[in-house]
Amino acid sequence: MKFTNLRLTGFKSFVEATDFEIRDGLTGIVGPNGCGKSNLLEALRWVMGATSAKALRGEGMGDVIFAGTSMRPARNWAEVTLTLDNADRSAPAEYNESEVIEISRRILHKEDGTQSIYRINSKEVRAKDVQLMFADAATGANSPALVRQGQISELINAKPQSRRRLLEEAAGVTGLHSRRHEAELRLRAAEQNLERLDDVIGELENQK
Ligand code: ATP
Repeated sequence: MKFTNLRLTGFKSFVEATDFEIRDGLTGIVGPNGCGKSNLLEALRWVMGATSAKALRGEGMGDVIFAGTSMRPARNWAEVTLTLDNADRSAPAEYNESEVIEISRRILHKEDGTQSIYRINSKEVRAKDVQLMFADAATGANSPALVRQGQISELINAKPQSRRRLLEEAAGVTGLHSRRHEAELRLRAAEQNLERLDDVIGELENQK
């Protein structure tokens, strides 16, 4: 999976639409403390379907929206778009026709909280579709490929269970786990239906 561009609009300190190009080779971000370097990595996690506001250094998800400064008013929505190069046609079948894949997440302030809208190539999809797409490619919001500040020391002190999750992600089996969970839920529902069917058959036989 090859990332080529990250576009931030109204996300944290990036109030104007800003393109962050990711070219071949190594891309570095250099700047003084507080200039927004970590915000960029958070935007990447966020567009891949991050659900924890705390991991994005916020109290609630609405905190990713530009909160205003003494010079500029706050905004009430934010959007991040990640562009993937699909020249090698390695995307999931439903998107594999396209040369370029654009994944976007938009968040809006609403009266009763916030709402996130996800799109893949302009078509509205569920958060789960985006999360699964990245999990299958062994990356995503919680991928061990994205290392944030202080994470290494947290890992050293982590519980074995958390370390196991990290190793599984590194081994690329996370997508399989979420699929297994979905399959288990479906199987359970099917079992319940069969039990109900047995009841109905039993009742019909009693009526004979
Ligand atoms: P450091 O390396 O010191 O951690 P950094 O370059 O990684 O700094 P960030 O921590 O990414 O910088 O950026 C923090 C900046 O983003 C701060 O100036 C903060 O005020 C601003 N910021 C964060 N959230 C918002 C928001 N919702 N609206 C406006 N500005 C925000």
